[in-house]
Amino acid sequence: MAVPLLDLRLQYAQVKEEMQRRLGVLCESQQFILGVPVVELETAVRDYTGCGHAIGASSGTDALLAILMAMGIGRGDAVVTTPYTFFATAGCIHRVGAEPVFVDIDAATYNLDPAKLEECLRKKCRSGPDGRPVTAAGNRVRAIMPVHLFGCVCEMDRIGALAKEFDLPVIEDAAQAIGADYPSRTGQTLRAGAIGEASYFSFFPSKNLGAFGDAGMVTCREADFAAQVTLLRNHGMGAQYHHEKVGGNFRLDALQAVVLSAKLPHLDAWHAARRGNAALYRVEFEKLGLLDRVTLPVEPYAAAGLANHHVYHQYVVRVPERDRVREKLAAAGIGCAVYYPVPLHLQECFASLGHAEGDFPESERAARESLALPIYPELTPEQIREVTAALARILA
Ligand SMILES: *Cc1c(COP(=O)(O)O)cnc(C)c1O
Repeated sequence: MAVPLLDLRLQYAQVKEEMQRRLGVLCESQQFILGVPVVELETAVRDYTGCGHAIGASSGTDALLAILMAMGIGRGDAVVTTPYTFFATAGCIHRVGAEPVFVDIDAATYNLDPAKLEECLRKKCRSGPDGRPVTAAGNRVRAIMPVHLFGCVCEMDRIGALAKEFDLPVIEDAAQAIGADYPSRTGQTLRAGAIGEASYFSFFPSKNLGAFGDAGMVTCREADFAAQVTLLRNHGMGAQYHHEKVGGNFRLDALQAVVLSAKLPHLDAWHAARRGNAALYRVEFEKLGLLDRVTLPVEPYAAAGLANHHVYHQYVVRVPERDRVREKLAAAGIGCAVYYPVPLHLQECFASLGHAEGDFPESERAARESLALPIYPELTPEQIREVTAALARILA
């Protein structure tokens, strides 16, 4: 039995009727740019995440670009983030003319390590004239951007405390983490996208909440900031054909908004199914005696008893001889993938940053050892056993 890494047709079957009804209404209206469907989705995402404001965008990447532009981040500036993430995180920092400053990850969670962030801000940077850190290259640090990788929120209390000390905004890269909960030290449950000053989601089709193409969303705390992002999203245009700023076309299609609005009410059930699959993987790996060779993902906030403490956008394990295992799994018809094979500090396009192998050892080790297994909600227990049995054969 072949097990795909992801099969979106099964999800579509669940929402098809409602979606086609909504798409029918939109087609009759022939109003495809922004409008009511986009506002409806923005309101629903705002309510779902508990953020202050939500602004639809053409992709996650464009959402981040709009955030950085609205913060006025550019030449002479720097943003601190992780090298173990999808390219867009650092790509956007570079695109606005700023320097991506990398901080290594925690080995267990794959998320930005707060201790290494502290070391970066205190020791690797010097203190600038306004007390904010300045990088070795002479750029002013303007923001900290943790990435909630694979659907688990970063240690935001510790990151937030450092951000406060150095008077820096936190931008959450929540591209993979819509719906993920975080048990804040204050006793409050916070949701990804509602923790930092600004944040963004990606609705790329394979994300937990996926559009029928590219789509994304900015979320933020302050109304003024939301107004800036809204302006930049539409070429900086206030009154029609009067441009206050130079923005871009970062608009969310009404078509995608309709698709996403039909899916959003199912998201918590899909998250629950993903977590159920993760729990079954653990049972099966344990039964097969593989826990000494396969390192399973951790759930750092499980004890807090929140439903969505991990939304498993990806189910990523570590295995020895990863590339051999990956080839054998593929040959056995088991879908798997490597997120991400090359950490960003070693990407060709960032050669000018002057990094070398060994600079961020945990990110490099994760790039060598990690392997994503199928986790999508509609996966059956038989399919999960097929995956674990295949791994047992390969590792025997
Ligand atoms: C998907 C993703 C993005 C980019 O989102 P797009 O919608 O594809 O532009 C950015 N960061 C991370 C971590 C992602 O997973």
